[in-house]
Amino acid sequence: MKIFKGRIFSFLRKPADINDTGSYTYLEKGGVAFDDKGIIIEVDDYYKLSKKYENTETIDFGSKIIFPGFIDLHNHFPQTQVIASYGTKLLEWLNKYTFPNESLFVDDEHCDRESKIFLDLLNHNGITTSVSFGSVHPNSVEYLFQEALRRNMCIIAGNVLMDRNAPDTVLKRADKSYLSSKKIIGKWHNVSRCKYAITPRFAITSTPELMEVSQTLCAENKSCYVQTHLSENIDEIETTLELFPDQKDYLSIYDKYKLLSNKTLLAH
Ligand SMILES: [Zn+2]
Repeated sequence: MKIFKGRIFSFLRKPADINDTGSYTYLEKGGVAFDDKGIIIEVDDYYKLSKKYENTETIDFGSKIIFPGFIDLHNHFPQTQVIASYGTKLLEWLNKYTFPNESLFVDDEHCDRESKIFLDLLNHNGITTSVSFGSVHPNSVEYLFQEALRRNMCIIAGNVLMDRNAPDTVLKRADKSYLSSKKIIGKWHNVSRCKYAITPRFAITSTPELMEVSQTLCAENKSCYVQTHLSENIDEIETTLELFPDQKDYLSIYDKYKLLSNKTLLAH
């Protein structure tokens, strides 16, 4: 057992406004008591804890603030190695850096190694819950879930669904994507803290057939999440509307295929 000592800040509920001081707890000299497995057993004033758990080792973080784990609502697991690549516009950046790098995830060893590096990076930055895109390869998400399970992390993830407007190495036919997604949902959704998100990458890389597959997967797996991208930049929005000329705006494309609900995350 151990006690972490420091300033503790934690939200109890969503604040109503900036003056809602009852929405959080703050302890100037706080303590977090852990059992030997690293599970938090109590959070309170440090001196109360140190009396209650006498002869327990204290790790003193001084005036540093101790927060609960952060939640990262959007990231791309297979893009770890292209972080900070030169900032060209979205569609050029995808073709130049992202798609070539994502194509490497066809290899199991690569998926295994990268999932560990990715989750190490999240953990080192205080992130304990993440909503993540995989590559088009189902194994990218399988390895990510395996590693998350080992760490008891909460991960919502899905392999991206893409069947046009990208190199062949990162495309998959809609019917094949349906079958592989169904298999992973059956194997991983709600296993420990792993949850599946149906993940059409964005409208540009989705044919109407693929959007229909996403719709079917949602209808058949109502407890799964949905994640995709919306309106990242002007060129992307223009291209999207050219591909779906019958739709009045970008969001209405996702609405048409019934992908919008309170379990949908629209990134960027
Ligand atoms: Zn994104």
